[in-house]
Amino acid sequence: MALETAAPRVRKALVTGAAGFLGSHLVDRLLADGFEVVGLDNLQTGQLKNLAHLKHRNDFQFVNHDVVDPIDMEVDEIYSLACPASPIHYQADPVKTFKTSVLGMLNLLELARKYNAKIMQASTSEVYGDPLQHPQREDYWGHVNPIGIRACYDEGKRGAETLCFDFMRSYGVDVRVARIFNTYGPRMHPEDGRVVSNFINQALNGEDITIYGEGRQTRSFCYVDDLISGFRALMTKEQAVDGPVNLGNPVEFDMLHLAELVLSLTHSKSKLVYAPLPQDDPQMRRPDIQKASESLGWSPKVELREGLQKTITFFRDLRA
Ligand code: NAD
Ligand code: UDP
Repeated sequence: MALETAAPRVRKALVTGAAGFLGSHLVDRLLADGFEVVGLDNLQTGQLKNLAHLKHRNDFQFVNHDVVDPIDMEVDEIYSLACPASPIHYQADPVKTFKTSVLGMLNLLELARKYNAKIMQASTSEVYGDPLQHPQREDYWGHVNPIGIRACYDEGKRGAETLCFDFMRSYGVDVRVARIFNTYGPRMHPEDGRVVSNFINQALNGEDITIYGEGRQTRSFCYVDDLISGFRALMTKEQAVDGPVNLGNPVEFDMLHLAELVLSLTHSKSKLVYAPLPQDDPQMRRPDIQKASESLGWSPKVELREGLQKTITFFRDLRA
């Protein structure tokens, strides 16, 4: 008599911030990896159209919910991405941003504890503030203005990290913390306000390209597909990596260089105009990714020119 083998149980993942830029890409990857996925979002900066292609799938469910309010559902993995990420959006209601970051994290950690779920926090390079160490390693404690206009986000994310590691030490929760450096790609909102979406849309519309300050400040831009692979590498690792892990592309550009590249790839005649540098804008930022590379075998593959081309195509198609 043939022995009946039970089909393996489908694992269930909760993604908060699922209607946003990164969240919607992560949902796609988890579905492709065989998960059943619940995507949660309050649609503050996200858009349902980022998930519209999943409308008819029965392995995906959208829940309109605010992470500041507790949630109870049995899941195996939790990805905490809910939080506005662009300075104009997180500064629009700073108290709400802080609550989303800290109370949202607390609610998700309680959920992880209750159901013994693995949890990943989407932290940020902003925990390093305007860094005095370059490039930034995970053991750098940062240089953050705790009372400035970016603090609601920076300190909110730092507080969320504190909660993660306290839940790990106090209750044995399996936490994984990704410190994400500037990531770009299709499904960014055209009015998101971040530099890549601003420059591309300005170039495509023939509008002036807005350089803040002198444009000599630097960032290191990671293409979205690379970052999502990093999330999965972090979560599929059997044993949690000790402490947070930087995920980003270590190739550094200044904003003038980025503007020139966008102008050349879009064949745009837009002119550069200069606007004041926002308060506390970090002067330089580049991840040291040795830890990700050694512990996860992860490194980004997509060069800026190629990623920008894909992002330009996305924004062009939106206008068609
Ligand atoms: P995004 O604004 O496109 O997505 C954030 C999503 O969270 C949106 O869909 C928004 O509606 C949702 N949200 C916000 N507050 C919420 C709340 N209280 N309850 C439920 N949903 C809420 O931004 P993104 O770039 O996709 O960023 C996703 C996450 O990654 C954020 O936590 C952000 O801090 C982090 N991160 C992103 C970057 C980056 O470069 N994209 C860098 C560092 C960190
Ligand atoms: N920036 C700019 N023009 C814009 C938008 C942003 O010069 O239209 C600059 C901004 O001052 C910062 C960098 O680009 O130095 C990255 O800004 P973004 O908001 O994308 O991300 P963050 O500052 O959070 O890294």
